[in-house]
Amino acid sequence: MNLSAIKAALPSSPAFVIDRDALLANLRALEALKKHSDVRVLYSIKSLPLSRVLQEAKPYVDGFSVSSLFEARLAQEALSKPGSVHLTTPGLRPDQIDALSTQCSHISFNSLGQFRRFAPALGDKVSSGLRINPKLSGLNDVRFDPCRPHSKLGVPIEDLASLESWQGIAGLHLHNSFAATGYTTLTETLQKVEDCLSDRLKQLEWINLGGGYLYGGIADQRPFIDAVRRLRSRYGVQAYIEPGKAVVGNAGHLISTVLDVFESDGKTVAVLDTSVNHHPEVFEYQRRPDLAEAAPDGSYPAILAGCTCLAGDLFGEYRFAAPLAIGDKVVFKHVGAYSLIKANRFNGCNLPDIYIAAGGGLECVKQFSYEEFRNQWSCDRDLPENAKENAAITV
Ligand SMILES: *Cc1c(COP(=O)(O)O)cnc(C)c1O
Repeated sequence: MNLSAIKAALPSSPAFVIDRDALLANLRALEALKKHSDVRVLYSIKSLPLSRVLQEAKPYVDGFSVSSLFEARLAQEALSKPGSVHLTTPGLRPDQIDALSTQCSHISFNSLGQFRRFAPALGDKVSSGLRINPKLSGLNDVRFDPCRPHSKLGVPIEDLASLESWQGIAGLHLHNSFAATGYTTLTETLQKVEDCLSDRLKQLEWINLGGGYLYGGIADQRPFIDAVRRLRSRYGVQAYIEPGKAVVGNAGHLISTVLDVFESDGKTVAVLDTSVNHHPEVFEYQRRPDLAEAAPDGSYPAILAGCTCLAGDLFGEYRFAAPLAIGDKVVFKHVGAYSLIKANRFNGCNLPDIYIAAGGGLECVKQFSYEEFRNQWSCDRDLPENAKENAAITV
């Protein structure tokens, strides 16, 4: 289903629409990589833990990668039988170790201190590893560079190299890339890992190469396949990857309706029925999401504004071939990852309805209700007296 057909058929707004064909194409690209390199693939559910996405991914992946106990439970529930759930987090809590040991098959500890404190308690139920900081990344923005100075993420690679005993360490985990469209960072990182750790890698069972690559969109897969095969043939190590954005990024769209249009200091402002709170990275990283209707040479620029009270709740200025009108729909494309999961109901603006577009049809799979908003913010279970009467209001 193409975007204009989706827009025309959409019964409600704002809407978060998952394009099932795009999702399956991404999963098939990962399946092909598995076939050619024997890598194992985990879906990093933090990018979009929607049950439908987990179910679609399940036949194509070897398990899930998670960042917390809640995600670990969700991942286990999505797998019909106990399966591969790999966790890494800087925030491992002593009171959750027992529960995590029943939910996770692999845990990569973020520091040597945590490894020493918690790994012995896991026994052999869980395969223990260490997240390492390879002190090298392809990222030049410290806000999301795991290898930034004074990083909180992973054991510095030189500390691991000088560690006398690797006893109890079954694997290593690294993640130092984001949305990469080539494998340069990966090959450079693995070169550095080999240079620093050399034959000690033979003591490992697995190495998790993290996420951060848009696998399906990379033309030359050779460097990846060679790297994964080399880890196996030279060191006997099984490689894993844990993509998030490569699974759902280009498969999700945020569709919104123009509520108002006016001039402000000589520029056109169009207020939408969504806000940056439905895609907080627009504000966090000052990103400007791709807009399906934008025409780079169009003569009608407009600032697309969110509907909340925040003056800076703006998606940015886009150009259009024709003036935007009240009631028009606009589509922020390729926002499947890290948008809905970070979305909130600031100002009481509801979360978007969720649709799956598949085979020419649109299925509404979730609508958030007023009751969910009220439950989130009510401190006791007693409903106010008038809540029952208000229940009749359905929008
Ligand atoms: C976020 C994250 C991923 C997934 O990253 P993508 O960029 O979405 O592929 C994988 N592993 C770790 C440790 C992460 O923090």
